[in-house]
Amino acid sequence: MLSLNASAKNMLMEKSETVLPCADKLVFDTKLQAQGSAATLKWRRGVKLKAYHCKHCGLWHLSST
Ligand SMILES: [Zn+2]
Repeated sequence: MLSLNASAKNMLMEKSETVLPCADKLVFDTKLQAQGSAATLKWRRGVKLKAYHCKHCGLWHLSST
């Protein structure tokens, strides 16, 4: 039986070439969807997020920087 705890799983995922560095981020198909979600999060949580086009997966994410 092989049992992995959470940190071991994360290490394996980071080494995998099939997992993108943005795999744990929110992802959106379009810029409008990302911007719409950013606006919602700004209202609900007061966080300012910016939509950006990801060079890794070709889709859109939100960044707080
Ligand atoms: Zn991405």
